Amino acid sequence: MKILVTGGCGYIGSATARWLHRRGVEVSVIDDLSEGHRRAWDGALAELDLLDRDACHRWLADQHFDGVIHFAARCYVGESVQQPVRYWRANVVPLIHLTEVLEGVPIVFSSSCATYGFPRTPTLAEDHPQQPVNPYGATKLAAERLLNDRDAAGLGRFAALRYFNAAGASADGRHGEHHDPETHLIPLAIRAALGQGSPLTVFGTDWDTPDGSCIRDYIHVDDLASAHYRALEHLLEGGESDVWNLGTGRGSSVIEVIETVGRLCGTPVPHEIGPRREGDPQTLVANADKARRDLGWEPAYRELAALVETAVRWHKQQPAGYA
Ligand code: UDP
Repeated sequence: MKILVTGGCGYIGSATARWLHRRGVEVSVIDDLSEGHRRAWDGALAELDLLDRDACHRWLADQHFDGVIHFAARCYVGESVQQPVRYWRANVVPLIHLTEVLEGVPIVFSSSCATYGFPRTPTLAEDHPQQPVNPYGATKLAAERLLNDRDAAGLGRFAALRYFNAAGASADGRHGEHHDPETHLIPLAIRAALGQGSPLTVFGTDWDTPDGSCIRDYIHVDDLASAHYRALEHLLEGGESDVWNLGTGRGSSVIEVIETVGRLCGTPVPHEIGPRREGDPQTLVANADKARRDLGWEPAYRELAALVETAVRWHKQQPAGYA
């Protein structure tokens, strides 16, 4: 079995590429290394920009793949609000270039809970209305629609996986989250506690939640990797196209994250309370029953502390990340 992983030097892409490789799958990675890190993936790499249609088509013409897992994308919500055109191009055009060539090849697609917009129910199931409130979510939804239309025309099946908050690092501490600039809560809190970064700003404690801070569903990166493997198996066994949420089903508040990080680092997280961040929904928690039921997927990291512990180990062992 030979699988193409686009964006396989990124945070979730490299975790998935490693997960597949350990299970005997032959993995080819495409990454332009604009966000990804060469050290995140030891195997074969084609350094290629998927926006370059000719280069992409030329490279694919010489290859045969049984399936594709497509991660390559830009992933900052705030940046997408500032640079919407760049996001539409980066998050939709590469999928067009891939699907122009890979007729009939099943695709596992990296989608997002950002496709739902503001929640209307305490937890989000796959049939929740999709009304994204930022360009990032809109581009992910557009890509899902493209895959739907391709499937309806009999041109190839797909699995769209809508992640909640990806977090954590490999259990051995060798691979983890390294964004530049970093905007995510858990790495920022750990870096603040370890004295590697500035104090954390909590984006609002005046929300209508038990402690006033926002609630998210943090899902371990290796649990996302295992879900991609399951979704790929589903497609390769002839399963139908579908969408699945990936989360734990349990929400944690920003204050809970800060307390957990402080406890595991052995020193409190220096922080101050700031205003709300524009575009932040109050609560985002998955209903991931469908993935459990259909894919037999079960997250191994159900407790926030177990997840945060892996991230703390990575930041202690690799203070400069992959740099
Ligand atoms: N957050 C925060 N301070 C920060 C970064 C994030 O209070 O410096 C909060 C943010 O408002 C959200 C949660 O932490 O409620 C998770 O944010 P993150 O950016 O990690 O992921 P998002 O939910 O935006 O995808």
